[in-house]
Amino acid sequence: MPNAAAKPCRHTGCGVLVRDGTGYCEKHKTDRNIGKFADEHRGSRQSRGYGAEWEQTRKRILRRDKGLCQPCLKNGKPRPARQVDHKIPKFEGGTDDDENLQSICTTCHTAKTAEEARRGRAG
Ligand SMILES: [Zn+2]
Ligand SMILES: [Zn+2]
Repeated sequence: MPNAAAKPCRHTGCGVLVRDGTGYCEKHKTDRNIGKFADEHRGSRQSRGYGAEWEQTRKRILRRDKGLCQPCLKNGKPRPARQVDHKIPKFEGGTDDDENLQSICTTCHTAKTAEEARRGRAG
């Protein structure tokens, strides 16, 4: 028999007595995992440099550009943008300032990233 004292499950409103020391009943053991994975997810987002601050910037730029892809707009074919892109890539000295950021659709972004990678290798 486990000798740990029985404690009510930590899931809000559950109250089932738990004796194995985990803090959660059989039904709510997954609550622990959800908490753990959420922490790992937050950590990885921050280590990539895309935190809450970038999320704010991204929303601001998309709003400024009325949610339209800027390269497509210049070609006279406005399309909805999903991403925000550095006009001058950071590895070429571009900044995170609003004037160096533009809304961009996935197609243009993929093409531009490939082009930049090619330039980066050549230069
Ligand atoms: Zn429970
Ligand atoms: Zn586009």
